[in-house]
Amino acid sequence: MGEKLQAVSVIGLGEMGAALARALQNDGYQLTVWNRTSAKAAPLIAQGARFSETVVEAVSASEIVLVCVSDFDTVCELIHSSDVSKALTGRTLVQLTTRTPKEARSAEGWAKAAGIKVLEGAIQGYPMHIGTEEGSILYSGSRNAFDENISLLKTLAGRTRYIGEGVGSSAALDLALAGSVVPGAVLAFLQGAALCNAEGVALETYLNLVEGDLYPGLILASLRLSAEKIERGDHAYTGEGAPIDAWIPGIEMVARANRDAGINPGWTEMTLQYLRQATAAGHGQSELSAVYEIFRQK
Ligand code: NAP
Repeated sequence: MGEKLQAVSVIGLGEMGAALARALQNDGYQLTVWNRTSAKAAPLIAQGARFSETVVEAVSASEIVLVCVSDFDTVCELIHSSDVSKALTGRTLVQLTTRTPKEARSAEGWAKAAGIKVLEGAIQGYPMHIGTEEGSILYSGSRNAFDENISLLKTLAGRTRYIGEGVGSSAALDLALAGSVVPGAVLAFLQGAALCNAEGVALETYLNLVEGDLYPGLILASLRLSAEKIERGDHAYTGEGAPIDAWIPGIEMVARANRDAGINPGWTEMTLQYLRQATAAGHGQSELSAVYEIFRQK
C-alpha cells in the first residue's frame, strides 16, 4: 500500500465500482463508499474504508467523488437531487457510468448551476483491467479536473487519456469503439466462420488468415482511407480501394453462398442494403466511405 492519503468517495459498488474502489484502496487512498446494497462494501470496510449511510454523507467526505452505477437514470436519481448537488458544490465528480453523449451533455447545465467540476469517463475493458497498466479510460469534460487528478486517474487505469472539453466526446468514442467496431467485427467474423465451417475449413486456418500478414493491414488501410475521404468530404473512387458498384456483385455472391450453405444471410443483406442506398444516392462510383453519408441521414 502506498503513502497517499487523499480522500476519495466511490458511489456504486457493483462489479466495476468495486474494482475502482479496490484499486484506490490498494494505492493508499482514504476511501469512503456508498452502495444501495451495503453488504457489498464489506471487503472494502475490512481493509479500512468508511461506509456512508447516505449519498450526501459519502460525497461530503471527499473533494473528489467517483460514481459508477448501472445506468444514467440511476446517476440522475442518486446524484442530481438538490441535497446531493449542494454537497457536491466546489468538488469534482468523476462520472464513470456508461451513457450516451446526449445523457452526458444533459448533465452539463446541472453541474454548472451547482458549481461542480465534472469529468466524464468511459471505461474500456473489464473490472480485471482496473488498477493495471492495461486498463484504459477515456475522459472528457473539465481539463482542469483531469490535470489536477491525473495521479488518482492513473491509479484507476494506466492508459488514461483526455479527449476534450466536450463532455459527450468520451461517450461517443466509447460507443463507437466498444459498441460499434468491436461487435461489428466479431459478427462479420462469425458469419465468415459459419461459411468456412460449412465447407469443412478448419476454424484455425480461418483465424490464422484473419490474424496473418494480409488482412490486418488491409482492414486498417481501408479504415484510414475512409477517414481521409470523410475529412475531405469527397468519396470519389481514386483507385485505392474499389467503387461501390464493384463491391455489390461480390457481396451479393456472399449472400448467395450463405443461403446455399443454409446460413442466415442477414448480416450481408444489411450491408447490401446500405451499399444499394449509397448507389441510389449517386455514390456508385465512390469508395465504400460514401456509406458514411447514408449513416448521417436520419
Ligand atoms: P453491476 O455489477 O450490475 O452494478 C450496478 C451498480 O448499480 C450496483 O452498485 C447497483 O447497486 C447500482 N444500482 C443499480 N440500480 C440502482 C438504483 N436504482 N439505486 C442505487 N443503485 C443502483 O454493473 P457494473 O458492471 O458495475 O457496471 C457499472 C457501470 O460500469 C455500467 O454503466 C457499465 O456499463 C460500466 N462498465 C462495466 C463494465 C464491466 O465489464 N462490468 C465495463 C465497462 C463499463 P446494488 O449493488 O445495490 O445492486
